[in-house]
Amino acid sequence: MSAAKKVLIVGGGIGGLSAGIALCRAGIAAEIVELQSEFNVYGVGIIQQANALRALDALGVADEAMRRGSPYGKVKMCAPHGFQFGETGTPPIGRFPSHNGISRKILHDVLYEAAQENGVVFRMGITVEHINNQPDQVEVQFTDGSSGTYDLLIGADGVNSKVRNLIFGQFTPRYINASVWRFAFPRPAGLETGYMYFGKKTKLGLIPMTADTIYMFVVSSEGEDNPFIPEEELVPRLKAYLEEYSAPFVQEVLPQITDPKGVIYRPLETLMTPAPWYKNRVVLIGDSAHATIPQLGSGAALAIEDAVVLAELLEKESAISSVLEQYMERRYERCKLVVDVSNTLSEWEQMEWKGLPLPEGANMGALMGKTLMVLTQPI
Ligand SMILES: Cc1cc2nc3c(=O)[nH]c(=O)nc-3n(C[C@H](O)[C@H](O)[C@H](O)COP(=O)(O)OP(=O)(O)OC[C@H]3O[C@@H](n4cnc5c(N)ncnc54)[C@H](O)[C@@H]3O)c2cc1C
Repeated sequence: MSAAKKVLIVGGGIGGLSAGIALCRAGIAAEIVELQSEFNVYGVGIIQQANALRALDALGVADEAMRRGSPYGKVKMCAPHGFQFGETGTPPIGRFPSHNGISRKILHDVLYEAAQENGVVFRMGITVEHINNQPDQVEVQFTDGSSGTYDLLIGADGVNSKVRNLIFGQFTPRYINASVWRFAFPRPAGLETGYMYFGKKTKLGLIPMTADTIYMFVVSSEGEDNPFIPEEELVPRLKAYLEEYSAPFVQEVLPQITDPKGVIYRPLETLMTPAPWYKNRVVLIGDSAHATIPQLGSGAALAIEDAVVLAELLEKESAISSVLEQYMERRYERCKLVVDVSNTLSEWEQMEWKGLPLPEGANMGALMGKTLMVLTQPI
């Protein structure tokens, strides 16, 4: 029988919601505290590869995510004018296709609804103020003045995790000199799968989100200063990046980029928290433990997998210390691989954009393919 009867999860994002569902399905009471008083998830999309769907299936929500998202096959890799020179993506795993594109908002809704159905308790608009982390329990004071005692506290509060800072020390995410611009559109007729176009200074993706919608991402290098871009510059700068892409699908959506509020601009940061990601009765999952840049489209997949593995171990093991050791054994190398390879891909990409020669033997397609194959292995 599990030694964990009552677990506190800090953060109600993809990782926290997944942990809540997985724990309740394992018969363990789960409470989520979320800093925002109301969830406010932006409407561009997220790529879920077959391993993400496999993990969502362990939570009982893969079919709903595919029903409300847009399953598709491999991504077509193209020149800026549209000529296809290759394809990328994980092979299908069982009944799960290479990809499911989905709006972040819809994915959040699917997870939130399942969390509620499974009995997760939500406390919105608060966070942890103080954590007394003992070998056999964890006592928590919250920012609303209340307190509680739990068998385990899961930090799922993202890349700038407060739990991490309180328990493991200060680690600052590293900006990698690149940013992502995203925008949602109605789905162009004939866009049957994901597309990636490789330009001289940027990379562009068109990703299905639902039967009727897609989102575009553009990865650019904004230099080393992590510049703030004022709202009035968002549309002209994004459109300037798109000029070299004469591919018909890009040209079709380009005139629709008029509202700066629709441009979701985000500098990219990475942080691999040193192992172990646990101390006494506090453990980290998702971006608080391993924030990756999205070159492999796998950060959220890792967060869901973390939650599934942790709950599976808590259900079958009686000693929490053994659960946490096994959690690290099963998660660390896999997550580090994604973080490291994503950083390498971005470095090579940026060298190409600067016209610099790549290191001997560097092959982006091969490295991506090899890493995505590793992710198909059982967790
Ligand atoms: C540009 C970009 C594109 C990406 N694309 C993909 C993709 O295509 N596929 C993919 O798999 N991954 C992708 N990712 C990665 C993915 O978004 C993250 O890995 C994933 O969101 C991590 O989930 P999380 O729950 O750990 O953290 P988050 O999603 O950051 O959730 C953290 C939650 O905790 C809350 N919170 C924060 N601080 C506190 C606090 N102190 N107390 C309580 N609550 C708190 C937040 O409000 C939030 O609800 C992308 C990331 C970026 C930046």
